[in-house]
Amino acid sequence: MTDLERRQDRAPVPSGWDYAPAPEARDIVTLEDRYGVFIGGELVDPRSGEYFPTLDPSTEEPLAEVAQAGTEDVDLAVHAARDAFENGWSGISPAERAKYLFRIARILQERSREFAVLESLNGGKPIKESRDVDLPLSAAHFFYYAGWADKLEYAFPNRRPKPVGVAGQIIPWNFPLLMLAWKVAPALAAGNTVVLKPAETTPLTALLFADVLRQAELPPGVVNIVTGDGRTGAEIVKHENVDKIAFTGSTEVGKAIQRELAGTGKKLTLELGGKAANIIFDDAALDQAVEGIVNGIYFNQGHVCCAGSRLLVQESIYEPVIEKLKKRLQTLRLGDPLDKNTDIGAINSKMQLDKITELVAAGKDEGAEIYQPPCRLPEKGYWFVPTVFTNVAQSYRIAQEEIFGPVLSVLTFRTPDEAIEKANNTPYGLSAGVWTEKGSRILSMAQKLKAGVIWANTYNRFDPSSPFGGYKESGFGREGGLHGLEPYLELDESEARGG
Ligand code: NDP
Repeated sequence: MTDLERRQDRAPVPSGWDYAPAPEARDIVTLEDRYGVFIGGELVDPRSGEYFPTLDPSTEEPLAEVAQAGTEDVDLAVHAARDAFENGWSGISPAERAKYLFRIARILQERSREFAVLESLNGGKPIKESRDVDLPLSAAHFFYYAGWADKLEYAFPNRRPKPVGVAGQIIPWNFPLLMLAWKVAPALAAGNTVVLKPAETTPLTALLFADVLRQAELPPGVVNIVTGDGRTGAEIVKHENVDKIAFTGSTEVGKAIQRELAGTGKKLTLELGGKAANIIFDDAALDQAVEGIVNGIYFNQGHVCCAGSRLLVQESIYEPVIEKLKKRLQTLRLGDPLDKNTDIGAINSKMQLDKITELVAAGKDEGAEIYQPPCRLPEKGYWFVPTVFTNVAQSYRIAQEEIFGPVLSVLTFRTPDEAIEKANNTPYGLSAGVWTEKGSRILSMAQKLKAGVIWANTYNRFDPSSPFGGYKESGFGREGGLHGLEPYLELDESEARGG
């Protein structure tokens, strides 16, 4: 027996293979006790005099107080944006505009760890997602649109592109900085100025972004950030000096905004909910597909408008897929969002947790079969165990409504036509996934699925050059790519029609 063999003989056998904690240090983030609103290039006290606490959803501990911007604050922000638009920003050379966007992109890259930690602290998402997805993509959006700023004449030939004016932008809590980047970058590249409202529960990275703007020496008033709840958003929507509204959030609020703007002539884009089908054919690479299913619904705790929340499995492979999926679920690690090993972080708010809990109870009542892997939840904070429902009928609420949590509803199909029929059977039309080894089948499915974005043999992939948006109750207008510039420009229509 060799020396090595003798030592291995004596080596203790580990009782388990648990991951050791790997927490990201949070001291890179410096928080103020209280934040004002960012108007005209400065953080100022809100005229409303009101503040509210913003929390860490994984501990329920308050992180800071932020301003509840009122009517007067929104009015000041809009005036600052109008002033900046008319007295400078719209008149500077496009190449100069691009310079600011490049600067912002580079600063985001330089400060990405600070932003990632803050995003996870305030929103509850795992640090590996904010670090590897939210931050690189946010910077990439600024880089991408910086490239377009001085090429608008070529992007829209003979259509005399002109900026729209002041853009009011209202964003949700699931990708706070990324949604900011999706909206601010094209607006600035096209020569507009901005009044942005982050979501009530996740304002902190937008406020840190204000510091990036200061560092980039963006002229005062070009971007203004007002924090607050839905009332602040409503003030932006109805302000008469705002020329365009870009909204991402729930279908219900999107519809209310559309009603409010009817007849005003203001431009509007809505990016709303979804109930996407992730379709697995029997010739798909199953292990790869199972990873795609997990990424499709458990990424960001399922707080994703394009989440693959309805799994459509071809009947002949139903059993192996469900077995593999259940096994994979047992390996997902739920817990501290700042731990680099965490797969599933905290639910963003008590309100969202209540909504998920209610819909899951409805699923059980309606007769679906629930599976949740063994999982110990932290004592404090908002958490939900990754969940799979099988035996789901199309009429169940869990197959129709957006749960916006880590909950998957599984249905089956026999033929491609049946898969299409079921996939399209929702009021939404944002995204879909197709898993098959046949390229021709991918193309034929993509023609028939009523969804703005279709992924093939992958899921939840984003790129700034690729337009994103929905049909039906998922909204209208596109963000990303060349299409994402259009809503921020006045374009000569006669040329577009060939007149
Ligand atoms: P909302 O649609 O209420 O929020 C989106 C943004 O709009 C937030 O900044 C919100 O402010 C603001 N807002 C709320 N009411 C108004 C209003 N009347 N006028 C203008 N702006 C307003 O979504 P919730 O956060 O309440 O989430 C509810 C549900 O919506 C979720 O359970 C989920 O199903 C869905 N949702 C979908 C998203 C998507 O991307 N498709 C994103 C977020 C939610 P405040 O944060 O203060 O409420």
